[in-house]
Amino acid sequence: MRKPEIYKLIEKKEKEGILLVISAPSGAGKTTLCKMLVSEMEKAVFSVSLTSRKPRGAEKRGVDYEFVTEKEFKKRINEKTLLEWARVHGAYYGTSGEFVKRSLNKGKCVVLDIDVQGGMQVKRKIPEAVLIFILPPSMEELKRRLRKRRQNSEEEIEKRLENAYSEVEAAHKYDYYVLNRELKDAIAELKSIVKAQERKLKIP
Ligand code: 5GP
Repeated sequence: MRKPEIYKLIEKKEKEGILLVISAPSGAGKTTLCKMLVSEMEKAVFSVSLTSRKPRGAEKRGVDYEFVTEKEFKKRINEKTLLEWARVHGAYYGTSGEFVKRSLNKGKCVVLDIDVQGGMQVKRKIPEAVLIFILPPSMEELKRRLRKRRQNSEEEIEKRLENAYSEVEAAHKYDYYVLNRELKDAIAELKSIVKAQERKLKIP
């Protein structure tokens, strides 16, 4: 029997990966949500970024970040091996282009936990990337969460809040938003966005 085009398209789509960009102001629960997504979705992989900042708390090299010196980071910029990079809170952060390409070729759902500057660069280079913005329920709640975390000094919290305002102002440039009131609802919404993308027929 003849095979309608749609079945060929479905086969092709199943082999293709999805590039997921997840951004949020710090304290919105993005890191937790990204970790949950990767552990709960079989085909999801986390893209470990490069950064010139120092490790914090229990962060592990190669798991949370590849921690490099500023000199090494600049070398990577010059070698043009990064899909995107930006300076955030005074340090360099960037995504390995090679890892993303390799994972997409394996049909994975690649999760990038990056800032808005990086998100915009990815969208320009890879228009089919799906950009999701995680929003805290309110700015007051964000401030409360940042204080509770006790990871940063009061000065750092103020700096992060200031940064949060400009990040949130850019949220409308994203494809989707998720309001993180309850973790379990937010993760369910994230998964449904991925599912919708998997079922989408018209991709730019
Ligand atoms: P933190 O230092 O709190 O781990 O991250 C600070 C900010 O840098 C967060 O908004 C995080 O999403 C962003 N970030 C982490 N990795 C990357 C990256 O590879 N590229 C860009 N552009 N931002 C990143």
